[in-house]
Amino acid sequence: MIRPEDALKKPLPLPDADSAVFWEGIADGKLLLQHCLACHRVHYYQQGICRDCGSSRLEHRAASGRGKVHSFSVVYRAPGPAFKGDTPYAVLLVELEEGPRMISSLVGGDPEKVEFDMAVELVCEPVGDGMALPCFRRA
Ligand SMILES: [Zn+2]
Repeated sequence: MIRPEDALKKPLPLPDADSAVFWEGIADGKLLLQHCLACHRVHYYQQGICRDCGSSRLEHRAASGRGKVHSFSVVYRAPGPAFKGDTPYAVLLVELEEGPRMISSLVGGDPEKVEFDMAVELVCEPVGDGMALPCFRRA
């Protein structure tokens, strides 16, 4: 059950064994992608083995941080009390220069001016407790 006081707090990421390195990278200002050394696919979601070929030979490499808006949605109605002060805000589906797509949000710009294929760049936003979130701003 959600306690009333928790509804006012934004949820923070909960790193697990597969994603701990990723979140440490974000806190350090780097978006780490997993590169499969067997089939050369690049993955955004952290995992123990390659989703395509099953190899466990995955290597973390920092992404360029550049991408473009593949799709987006502007949120006018907050999903909960913690997000009330943020509306309107833009949720982005960013296509990274390296290929993978990731869901993120826009910072530092007018959410109503977001366009398809708009160039964006990574911004790691500190959220407390030594954590940060991968967000994007217009490049
Ligand atoms: Zn692979």
